[in-house]
Amino acid sequence: MIIILLGAPGAGKGTQAKRLAGELGYIHLSTGDLLRQAVASNTELGKTAHSYMKSGKLVPDEVILAVVSEFIADNPNVGVIFDGFPRTHNQAEGLKSILQTSPPKVVSLDVADEDVIKRLSSRRVCQDCGKLFNMISGPLPTGDKCDTCGGKVYQREDDRSETIAERLKVYHQQTAPVKEYYAKLNCLWSIDGSGDADEVYARLIRAIN
Ligand code: AMP
Repeated sequence: MIIILLGAPGAGKGTQAKRLAGELGYIHLSTGDLLRQAVASNTELGKTAHSYMKSGKLVPDEVILAVVSEFIADNPNVGVIFDGFPRTHNQAEGLKSILQTSPPKVVSLDVADEDVIKRLSSRRVCQDCGKLFNMISGPLPTGDKCDTCGGKVYQREDDRSETIAERLKVYHQQTAPVKEYYAKLNCLWSIDGSGDADEVYARLIRAIN
């Protein structure tokens, strides 16, 4: 079983995917998290991905599809929630060939651009456990420390204002067409991603049931 969460950067895909994966016993696969780990470990994948990521551009499709294909091969017969993948029409086609099953359930979290900008510029993340914080809406870190694991809380380099505009542009140009792709396959549910995380989660559960 595959669930895909679509939406602009900062739409809340990570928060919702983590919670849903925990409740369904699925694996949460965030291609962004996977790439950030590769960058931090300075692997070949990380070296390739870093320049794209820091400028807000997409990592090439063939690189991402190779990573996802390997992940699916290593984790057969498990439920997966994709967060941040597919991000282009080619990736959606690539996923179809990798899975060779009926279309996945796809939920788009729709959030207005001005809210995305606010959310991303105030977002912080724990470098050890990945917990998300928000300097406006909370939860707030304690100083620069994570209240869950004590790790250092930092601002992602691509959450700085110069890069946010580019990421939004890339989203509208390259990722919004993925919605059309799944709409044509009748497997897309669009939900309002604004407001409180619990309310969005309730909408998400209604959409996938
Ligand atoms: P995210 O954490 O999902 O916002 O991803 C952070 C960055 O990682 C993106 O801005 C891209 O540079 C890269 N990235 C993550 N997922 C993908 C993907 N499916 N295709 C291409 N690039 C990706």
